[in-house]
Amino acid sequence: MTGGGGRRSLYAAPPLHGTIGSCRRPSFVAMSALFGSTRRLLLSAASVSTPVLAAVSESRLSTHLAALATLTSTPPCGPSPDLSAEIKDSKLLRTQNYVGGQWIEAADGRQLEVVNPATGKMIATVPLSGANETRAAIAEAATQFDAWGRRPAKERGAILKRWHAEVVAARDDITRLMTLESGKPLAESRGEFDNGVASIEWFAEEATRTCGDVLESPDGSRRFMVLKQPVGVVGAITPWNFPFSMITRKVSPALAAGCTVVLKPSESTPLTALALAELADRAGIPHGVLNIVTGDAKAIGEALLKSELVRKVGFTGSTAVGKLLMAGGAATVKRMSLELGGNAPFIVFEDADVEKAVTAVVSSSHRNSGQTCICTNRVLVHEAVHDAFVAALTQRVQALRLGSGLESGTTQGPLISAAAVDRVEEKVQDAVAKGASVACGGARPSWGAGSPLTGGFFYQPTVLTGATIDMRMFHEELFGPVTPVYKFSSDDEAVQMANNTQYGLAAYFFTQDLSRAWRVAERLEYGMVGVNEVAITSEVAPFGGVKQSGLGREQSKYGLAEFQDLKTVCLGIGPR
Ligand code: ADP
Repeated sequence: MTGGGGRRSLYAAPPLHGTIGSCRRPSFVAMSALFGSTRRLLLSAASVSTPVLAAVSESRLSTHLAALATLTSTPPCGPSPDLSAEIKDSKLLRTQNYVGGQWIEAADGRQLEVVNPATGKMIATVPLSGANETRAAIAEAATQFDAWGRRPAKERGAILKRWHAEVVAARDDITRLMTLESGKPLAESRGEFDNGVASIEWFAEEATRTCGDVLESPDGSRRFMVLKQPVGVVGAITPWNFPFSMITRKVSPALAAGCTVVLKPSESTPLTALALAELADRAGIPHGVLNIVTGDAKAIGEALLKSELVRKVGFTGSTAVGKLLMAGGAATVKRMSLELGGNAPFIVFEDADVEKAVTAVVSSSHRNSGQTCICTNRVLVHEAVHDAFVAALTQRVQALRLGSGLESGTTQGPLISAAAVDRVEEKVQDAVAKGASVACGGARPSWGAGSPLTGGFFYQPTVLTGATIDMRMFHEELFGPVTPVYKFSSDDEAVQMANNTQYGLAAYFFTQDLSRAWRVAERLEYGMVGVNEVAITSEVAPFGGVKQSGLGREQSKYGLAEFQDLKTVCLGIGPR
């Protein structure tokens, strides 16, 4: 997945002198002294070699950070008045890191702006945290791991169910928050919510069904018991395109398995994550079991990777960042689950139900303005049905309504950032320069003078015909509301085109021939294949890719196993 970024950061260094009311601010000298001791603690944490010692040092660091944050947070991060007016339960508008059950600013007071992509306007500031806050969060998670991991699974499940109930009750506010920070239409936020909240409930129940194995040695003298144990502290890094469900998919199985978590949400969509933390707090998830740090992706990522206390990283994002994480995790041999980019083909065979295929392509290609890793990126259509398919597709895409996700009737919202619009525009221009024709769209919209949407990051719903494999969009993830149509004339050609990519996440095809369905499903080099169906995501089914689309699976019993280590206990019982 790619296409985000471009967020502005405010380096709002707080004033270090003077007074506010009767509260004297610390002088620069005093602050330096405090920082000095913090830095010494950091150095001592870095120089110890055992995880236990590191945990102790990081724990002391956490206390210092909390004190420091109180002193320096002027003014604190917060929501804009416009955002506050949108959300009924104002306590869900959390704008600080959640560490050990405390809401804390960045230690140095730096802040990050959260922007509504439909208007380009700032809606909140959150901490621009880095390594220090992350180490504090890791220390809290490490401190809580033993107690949480040893609780009976049924108890952990019961607490997760309370979280589920709190989240369900907050559906209206959470979905508005998702739309306000990610731009997706409310109907899509609700769909993501329902899908994501189901993961919490499902893993709460699945936790109680974990069972190991008992095996007999070939000579009969030993018994091997295979135990499943929580891997430890988990670092979770999530993207902006599913600000809610990418979190619940990682945090729910991790907590259900007995792990504790330090989560870094996308810098574009931290508010949904922090609202989830508020609800976790209300549900009684013990402090330190779930921690959230917002801010500098590289600094937070490096702190997670370097820590020996973090035993696993679960990531959804671009293939480029996934490779960096995999390389960085090598030093401490971390377990990795990587859900990376996709370049999904959608094959329409000559016997397909064309109307149904068109509906499926529009939904899969234009969902979230084309910004999902399983969005259809390449439509391959058999020459016999090509023209009828293109005519119906163009009509349907032209009928999509572009606008603010909060307005009823909007079926396509903005992209996540101005940079994302630039990238889509470049790929369309490349395709047109190489011979593609624009059937509809192909440009930025123009809004009426004075419309608040003029500052938003929009691109028209677009269909391109005559697409060929020399175009950038054939090989690169599109991440925009563009449907390119490629023509083919045989099954072999379609399968070869579909597999001609470094990615291997999702693929779709429509046919009414059962034998072809089986043959093609087996030949597609993808982790997930939709046959006459594009709704391929469910909490009960494994989700993940092959090739450079990633490692491991989320959701389902396989997703739970990603957070469990196998331990073999061998019991000698003597000769028979
Ligand atoms: P996208 O292009 O869709 O934003 P990214 O892979 O850049 O995808 O981002 C997905 C998540 O990875 C976000 O939370 C982002 O902040 C985080 N991220 C980006 N770069 C790094 C990095 N160097 N280390 C750790 N996390 C990162």
